[in-house]
Formats: sequence, C-alpha cells, structure tokens
Amino acid sequence: MTTTPNPSMPGTLEHLRFDNRFLNELPGDPEACNLPRQVHAAAHSRVTPGAVSAPRLLACASEVAAWIGLDPAECARPEFAEVFGGNALLPGMEPWAACYGGHQFGHWAGQLGDGRAINLGEVVNPDGQRLTLQLKGAGPTPYARSADGRAVLRSSLREFLCSEAMHHLGIPTTRALSLVATGDAVLRDMLYTGDMRPEPGAVVCRVAPSFTRFGHFEIHAARKDHALLRQLADHTLRHDYPELGPPGTEAYLALFRAVCRRTAVMVAHWMRVGFVHGVMNTDNMSILGLTIDYGPYGWLEDYDPDWTPNTTDARGRRYAYARQPEVAGWNLARLAEALIPLVGTVEPLQEAMAVYGEAYATTWRGMLAAKLGWKAHRGAEDDRLFEDLLEIMRRAQCDWTILFRTLIDLPALGADEDTLLKPFSEAGYLPEGLDAEQRVTALDWLRRYQQRRAEDGHDDETRGGIMRAANPRYVPRNYLAQQAIERAEAGDLAMLHTLQQVLRRPYDDQPEHAALAARRPEWARHKAGCSMLSCSS
Ligand code: AMP
Ligand code: MG
Repeated sequence: MTTTPNPSMPGTLEHLRFDNRFLNELPGDPEACNLPRQVHAAAHSRVTPGAVSAPRLLACASEVAAWIGLDPAECARPEFAEVFGGNALLPGMEPWAACYGGHQFGHWAGQLGDGRAINLGEVVNPDGQRLTLQLKGAGPTPYARSADGRAVLRSSLREFLCSEAMHHLGIPTTRALSLVATGDAVLRDMLYTGDMRPEPGAVVCRVAPSFTRFGHFEIHAARKDHALLRQLADHTLRHDYPELGPPGTEAYLALFRAVCRRTAVMVAHWMRVGFVHGVMNTDNMSILGLTIDYGPYGWLEDYDPDWTPNTTDARGRRYAYARQPEVAGWNLARLAEALIPLVGTVEPLQEAMAVYGEAYATTWRGMLAAKLGWKAHRGAEDDRLFEDLLEIMRRAQCDWTILFRTLIDLPALGADEDTLLKPFSEAGYLPEGLDAEQRVTALDWLRRYQQRRAEDGHDDETRGGIMRAANPRYVPRNYLAQQAIERAEAGDLAMLHTLQQVLRRPYDDQPEHAALAARRPEWARHKAGCSMLSCSS
C-alpha cells in the first residue's frame, strides 16, 4: 500500500523529501532474494518491510518529528502508523538493510548486518540535514540468520524510552521517532528456559544522521575487500565528517581520531549518569559516537562497579559498568585494525589510539568536577576523594542517581551525625543502614569534601547549579521501564507517557513526580526485567 500524496502541504508525511545516499552511492547486493545468506561485495541489500496486522501508534517523540521536518500532528494520522509499522512506504523511501560484521564478546563473529533493522530512507530536513529513518523489528532481511526479524513490545518500549531519555540527558544517541504496536505476536524464550511464549510485537523507528557502525568497516577488511572498505570510508568522510577534508591517508587518520574523541565523550557520559550499555560489541558502536542498539542495558542503582544488566554476560562481566571505558578502547583498536589497509602502516593508527585515552581522561575529569560541584579537577588528590566516595557507596549500597543529588545541599558540619549522614542514608539500600565503621568513614569523607568545597570558592548557588546540571534527578530506572511495559502490555499507556514526559527534563526537580526519582523498591531487586535483562528481544 502506498499512501495518497498531498505534496502541497509542508510538514505532512507526503511532503518529506528523501535522498538515499548510502543506498545510491555505495554498491548494493545484486541478488534480490530476501533469504539469510552471506552478502559479498555489497554495502547493503534492498528489502521490503514485512506487513503487520494492525499497526497502532503507542508513543511518538514530537521533537523528533519536528527534527525530520514533520508536523508532530502528523503522528496521529492512521497513515503514520502504517508507514512506521512497516505496511506502507512514502514517496522517496527505498528500503534497505546494511551489511556489517563485528566482534561479539571479544570474538570475531563474521557477517552480522541489519537482521531486523530496515532503513526506510535518508530524509532531508528543512535545515538541509540528512537523517536516516530506520525501523527496528520490521521483518527479516538477508542478515537475519535464523531469526525472525521481529522485536517484542518490551524491548521496543525500552529502546524508545531510553534513547529519548539519553538525548534529554545530553548524551549522544540515536533518537526514536515512534513506537508502533504491530498487532502480531512474536515468539520469545525470554529467560532462556526453553519456554517459548507469544509476546506482543512492536516496531521502533530510530533516527540518526548515520547508522554506520565499527562493524561496517570490519566486515570489508576481514574479507580483504579493500576497494569497498575505501568506498565506505570515503562515503563516511564525505557525508559524516566533511570537515576532515578530501579522502586520503591523512583524512582516514583524522577520521579515526575523531571517532576516538566522540567515543570517549559518549562513554564518559555513560559513566557520569550510571548507564550500562550491556552489549558493547563492535557492531553496536557508532562511527558518530552515538549510543546505539538499546538491548539489555541498565541503570546503576546501588553502586557496584562490577554490575552488568545482561544475563548473557553474568559470568564474564565483560560489559560491566566500570569496564566500559576499557572496552570502548578495545573496540576502537578493532576499528583501527580494519583501517590499516587504507592507512598503509600500523604505527600512525597506534599513535592515534592515544587520542582515546586522553579525550576520555579530560572529559571525565571535567564531568567529575561538575558532579561534585568544583570549578575544576585538581589532580590525584581529587581522584582519591572520588574513589573513597565510590568505596563508601559500594559498601553502603548507595543509589548512584540519588547520592549525587543529595550531596548538593549538605548540612553544616556542626549538625548532628544523623543529619550529616543523610546523603548516605537517603541513598542507601542496606536495610540496617550504615554500620559503625561505615559511619566513621562516611563522616570523615564528608568533612574532607566540605573542606574541598570551601577551598574551591564557588558560592552555594553557583555550585548547586553546576551539580544539578551534571547529576540528573530522573533516569529511566530499570524497574520503572518494566512497570511501564507491564501496563502497556495490558493496554494502559499512561505510565509510558508520564515517563516520557518527565524524562524530557531529567535535571529538573519535578515535585509532582518525586515517586519516579525514588529508590528502587525491594521487590525489584532480583526481578527479571528490573535487574536482569536477557538478549532475547
Ligand atoms: P544485537 O545483539 O541486537 O546487537 O544483534 C546482533 C545481530 O543479530 C545483529 O546483526 C542483529 O541484526 C541480529 N538480530 C538480533 N535479533 C534479531 C532478530 N530477531 N531477527 C533478525 N536478526 C536479529
Ligand atoms: Mg546490534
């Protein structure tokens, strides 16, 4: 089905303009059949989204609609759900799936590709910016391997909610335009117990200037298809990094350095807000340094550097919170290897790797200073103060988000001990509270911190402003997303919409929504979907 064009109305669906450069400038798959297979000498395969029974819009992000040049009122049209559920194409849309590979959990996995993601086209917005619209869960592609190309409502809702929340937290990310229920059931074994059960299906429309991943480069390098590798790199330089100049050895190196810098900034933000991606495979790393592929991600509650939300990673903990900076570096090294054929020698890429560590350290120190309300990071002593805080938080099981927020308004040092210790008691999950030793350590830390604040010289208001801008009040807590899912599955979308609304202003106190900033309730500590997520989605 194709909708009736109404080209005279700017801002309507039919008025969107497409220029599909990834599809038209890079070599495509000569085979047209949509069956799982290895696709060689091609950057993409043309594929049509699979039809769904009853597409119904569950949520949309009006800011993203406006960004692509769409009047947000258009989201309410039945045609919108048809297009973004996968049943219809707008004029100019030419759907395709991209070929990429990747290292999964430290091992080369060969061809992966858009197995259930289908790009609809690159829309040119009123500012002339090109944005790719991509459906996730719209049916199988040649890259689907043995899977069905579909996605369940629970994982789609999580991606929709979290990617928008990340944007409003100021973190580079792919965006989400819409969440559409398909009306079809999808079979999943959620806990890997052999118990397949039907779950409601959904499709998210993701939006980003580019969905190119490290794995796009790795697959052509692994296949020694250097011509295609070069075409992809040149395409990326031309369209995603035009400021780096015309293609050539210097530009390829500059590209790598730029990806190092952007990745460093992205991961530093994750560490700031307590986000754990959960599956940092190289196919889930964006060449633009965007957070991409929201799967079994999670948000730190009680601080535990070793925590991973991903049950598949429970043994190795490769993608645990504290390992994220190191793993991003490992992933960048895989990208560097893929670029060797273009640069000619290894050394300049090895040297360029240093950019990652430097950019990470600089960015993180700035964020750390802001989190604690200082003018600037003063070196090793500040690091020690922070590490001592982390150790107290770990032992006292303090909530990452709440603790930093409660540090803003500290009671004067003359107050009684219980009052002084409020940040730790308000954020702590230990039922019995701090023990005697922890109280002594925490009081000592608070004295050192007060001292450091006094030396810094910021007035309370300035410091409070800095801390409020670095430490969100609201994040899409794991258990809140799970509650929104359970209600949405029962047909009640109110919680999803409330969360979406509150998470648009995550740094603002919103007293009427204080409950959404509270500690995780005890029942959610070990509940599936709240603290443990599977890749089955
Ligand atoms: P992920 O773990 O989401 O990064 O996915 C890894 C690879 O598996 C990618 O190539 C995905 O496109 C593919 N994939 C994951 N789930 C499905 C599915 N339900 N159908 C087809 N391909 C999938
Ligand atoms: Mg992926």
